[in-house]
Amino acid sequence: MAEQSLKIDHARYVLTLDPRRRIIQDGAILVENGRISRVGKAAELQDARADRVIDGRHLVIVPGFFNGHMHISYAHPVRGVFPDEQASPLVHVFNLQSAMTEEEEYHTTLLGLVELVRNGTVCFLDPGSTKFPDACLQAYEDSGIRVILGECVTDQAAPWALPRYPAPEAVARTASFLAKWHGRLDGRIRAWAMPFSPETCSAELLQALKRLVDERRSGLTLHHNSGVKARQDSVARHGYSPTAYLESIGVVGPNVLLAHCLGLDEAEVDSIARTRTAVAMCPVTAAKSGRGVPEHGRMPELLARGVKIALGCDSPNNSNHLDIVRAMNMAAIQYKDARQDLRQVPAEAALEMATRHGAEALGLGDELGSIESGKKADLVCFDTLRPEWQALWNPVNNLVYSADGRSVHTVVIDGRVVVDAYRQTFVDEPRLYARVQEIGERLQVRTGIRFPRSRWPMS
Ligand SMILES: [Zn+2]
Repeated sequence: MAEQSLKIDHARYVLTLDPRRRIIQDGAILVENGRISRVGKAAELQDARADRVIDGRHLVIVPGFFNGHMHISYAHPVRGVFPDEQASPLVHVFNLQSAMTEEEEYHTTLLGLVELVRNGTVCFLDPGSTKFPDACLQAYEDSGIRVILGECVTDQAAPWALPRYPAPEAVARTASFLAKWHGRLDGRIRAWAMPFSPETCSAELLQALKRLVDERRSGLTLHHNSGVKARQDSVARHGYSPTAYLESIGVVGPNVLLAHCLGLDEAEVDSIARTRTAVAMCPVTAAKSGRGVPEHGRMPELLARGVKIALGCDSPNNSNHLDIVRAMNMAAIQYKDARQDLRQVPAEAALEMATRHGAEALGLGDELGSIESGKKADLVCFDTLRPEWQALWNPVNNLVYSADGRSVHTVVIDGRVVVDAYRQTFVDEPRLYARVQEIGERLQVRTGIRFPRSRWPMS
């Protein structure tokens, strides 16, 4: 894939996210065999030759972004159909998702991938939404992106159309999924166990899946919320808070990623920190769906305890976009407002979650997440020749507070340029857009899930 060497020369800033968090002005990066071989001042790398040299004078280079909770599949063709007050219409969501055909999922996945890579995401975790990974493999390969995949399983009744199997079958399916998918595409595909949630899975199933991923050196993710109602239900059912329950059955640890995590109490924060369990938070989803971040958000407490948090975008009908820069922005501003305290979630912490800490939360921190020699070459170059990047004194502030993914100029994954001066080359975008619009029309007709197109008269 990455037979060529690549040099980014005279970058205006390189935000390394290395252990010292160095920011290099007039920096250079040399990429060889898919890895970063050198990074430093342009003058120090003057002797470095490469097959291709990118002029970085107007670029800010950051490590590639991680999206730790991103349902790809059903939502793109019906993006924005739900009225605001139906912020989380899960019944419709799962009905739409289960109605998708293989061919439809391939195209909607392609659209998701285009949006992800063009906004600088180099790796995303799909929490078990994809029904036809075989059909989507070509799209993953063509886009060059890294993906953490799994099959959604449950073994308990749920109010939504979720895939449900007896526990032994759910475990067997997951085991064969891991065997089939883990490590494909030169390691860019990882396969994890993906039980939907503690409410829809028995303790036996969750424990068996945890044993499986421990053996296979893989990971496990599930939806995890606490808060008043979830805590009452959990105490009634298990005698524990939601997080204490997971700890009591051993479904915690560095290879467990809990998604959302709203409404944790102090003891739950302590449990997550003590067991070094990872967390994925979707700040835009939380705000847009009125989840009460001031009351229920614990990102500052988790950060203070050193918990590895990845940011997520959830889906095109939750946050409604797949732009981690906007998720960083929301993470950095929503807690300042919620706590009326400007020290909460600094811009630097938001950038760490999107890069270095996000990679660690997804179990990829040894190889990815920062710009250091020896790491895999996943880079995002932002174009500063745009109004929102001017004037430029503190590149972290410009990135988190002023920019969004639209200034992503060039993206490198595994040493391969997958977005080149704003262009990706793996799909014909206008044709794809028309196709996905058609799929959305067909899906709505087939499922009968229709909402008024607008509050305003549309003719
Ligand atoms: Zn989810």
